[in-house]
Amino acid sequence: IIEVKDLAKNFGDNQVLKNISEQVNPGQVIVVIGPSGGGKSTFLRCLNLLETPTSGEVDFDGQNLTTLDTKKVNTLREQMGMVFQNFNLFPNMTVLENIKLAPMKVKNISDADATKRAHELLQQVNLDDHADAFPTSLSGGQAQRVAIARALAMDPKVMLFDEPTSALDPEMVGEVLNVMQDLAQQGMTMVVVTHEMGFAKSVADRVWFMADGYIQENNTPEEFFSNPQTERAQDFLSKIL
Ligand code: ATP
Ligand code: MG
Repeated sequence: IIEVKDLAKNFGDNQVLKNISEQVNPGQVIVVIGPSGGGKSTFLRCLNLLETPTSGEVDFDGQNLTTLDTKKVNTLREQMGMVFQNFNLFPNMTVLENIKLAPMKVKNISDADATKRAHELLQQVNLDDHADAFPTSLSGGQAQRVAIARALAMDPKVMLFDEPTSALDPEMVGEVLNVMQDLAQQGMTMVVVTHEMGFAKSVADRVWFMADGYIQENNTPEEFFSNPQTERAQDFLSKIL
């Protein structure tokens, strides 16, 4: 569903991504791990063209995003939900309004239909009792679950997560990972940048180890964690496990 060909990204002289070629198949859960500064966030942002690649190609659903006009890219980007570390909820809107906004504005869904769908999604993330709350009254874990529900409201074909639990107090990490695990079990295609190795082991179909602008290893979690091939990965794992 996503195919990346010879993707490279430079910031000035800094080569952040170096000729990456990988693909994500429908229903797969890819977990991207690796040291800080290795290019994980930049890579994720290139997948939906939030960041413009310096060279190479990103295909989504058979279409080469790098050659399309902005309008077309925006339409396709709607089909890729993105969840960030810091939730980015609209502070002046209730939880329900946050979720309804994009479907109503962008997809012209009626208020009634958007409301119904928003409640369904809030049930899915166990927060329907908070529909009328404002984001500032939520815990980090609750806010992140709302952010996930909001992304799902656009009925994306793929969900991209950039360290969704890194900003959370430890006791809230589990509730967010559980929602993500449910989503994976329902068959959602997901690319997840995370430091949660337990999630990688139990949910990922593939682990991509990224460092120095390359995907250095692409393997099953079983293989990657028990038998990392590169010294870079061995070193990384010895520091975090
Ligand atoms: P972390 O684990 O800390 O989130 P990361 O693997 O996500 O790291 P990136 O954020 O993609 O890494 O950064 C990779 C490199 O690109 C870093 O050297 C960073 O300084 C640089 N970089 C990222 N975004 C920009 C930008 N907008 N302008 C200039 N340099 C950038
Ligand atoms: Mg990052």
